Amino acid sequence: MIEIEEKTAKYVLCLLFIACLVIGVAEYYYNLDFAVDQKDFTQEKTAQTVITGFVRSGENLVNIFKKHKLRLKESLMVSEASANVHKLSSLGSFKPYKIVVGPDRKLESFTYGIDDDSVVTVINTDSGYRAEKKVIAYEKRILSVGGVIRNNLIDSIGEDREHLLLGLDLSDILAWDIDFSTGLRSGDSFRIVVEGLYLDNEFRKFGKILSAQFINNGSLYAAYRFEQNGDAHYYDETGRSLRKAFLKAPLNFRKISSHYSGSRLHPILKIYRPHHGIDYSAPAGTPVSASGGGTVSFAGYKNGYGKLVILSHPNGYRTCYGHLSKFGEGISSGKKVEQGQVVGYVGSTGMSTGPHLHYEMLVNNKTMNPLKIKMPAGEAIPKTLLADFSSYRKTMDTRLALIGLPIVASGERSDR
Ligand SMILES: [Zn+2]
Repeated sequence: MIEIEEKTAKYVLCLLFIACLVIGVAEYYYNLDFAVDQKDFTQEKTAQTVITGFVRSGENLVNIFKKHKLRLKESLMVSEASANVHKLSSLGSFKPYKIVVGPDRKLESFTYGIDDDSVVTVINTDSGYRAEKKVIAYEKRILSVGGVIRNNLIDSIGEDREHLLLGLDLSDILAWDIDFSTGLRSGDSFRIVVEGLYLDNEFRKFGKILSAQFINNGSLYAAYRFEQNGDAHYYDETGRSLRKAFLKAPLNFRKISSHYSGSRLHPILKIYRPHHGIDYSAPAGTPVSASGGGTVSFAGYKNGYGKLVILSHPNGYRTCYGHLSKFGEGISSGKKVEQGQVVGYVGSTGMSTGPHLHYEMLVNNKTMNPLKIKMPAGEAIPKTLLADFSSYRKTMDTRLALIGLPIVASGERSDR
């Protein structure tokens, strides 16, 4: 009888041992997943405890140390040691952290994820606390993404954070040719060759867009990322820069998207051409961007225009932005503005029946249709590099051609 009990006890102990081992191994891989400090945790496993978590809203280092029953003095040492590397006095919500403690919950290291690309680790060494910042080394893979527009770009590309950012990157690259806020048509399509950044074989985020094709209203726009002298820009299929003197629209899709990130989707903008300018109907408060770089020649109230900004650009060009609810930060007469800078916000000041942006472009005091003018193009790839560019373009074209698009029934209507 006693003998059997002993055997049972041994069996239970053995099971417990295996369970501990499984938990230990699982924890080890879980820690690796954070991929910060790939130290071998199996050594002295019994003596170390690893705590991982995410910073909660309003939490600071002291709160975190208190929560995990660690010495508060150590939180001060950590904060002091990292002061010159990365200040830990305020932590970002939802940022990941990892704490390794030894026997008696003595701190061995504290790691904090600064952003998607870097972490700071404070190690408790024999000679004191030492902080170092590390760049996360992602493995790059080349991915392809394709889609057909039904409602808007984000709907088609995917609404999760990574796809949303990819969509915004694409809209930035083609912002000189395509108006992503009002100019997309149902049935437009896109193909993107993009870097995928991986950690431990797991997709983390998209990197740079290497090339893209966008068919907008029947016209094909292509973009190829090409580097020269350490500077990377996007070029069309002939090697001309995609950057132009004027953006296709004064309402930047990225700015609108980030401005209205609280609502599920971006406001539906409409465009009208009732007179010498273009009216963009948009919710009050939508940021208005300078379509080109230049100088503010007027920022004030003017009759029917209400709050108005006029910019002067090189070569006799001027752009006007009317009915604004307020001016952008630092926008006043004589100030220089960069292309894309916010000059004001959509409103309904002056002679206006509802919130909209009145946009006008003039050349030598003559109004013209901004949608039709031939934009002066940016710099092209130098002749000496054209052969390189062309072979790069060909490999990209092969990849782009392989991207399949979802089939959308021709009669299908968007259910907006
Ligand atoms: Zn108008």
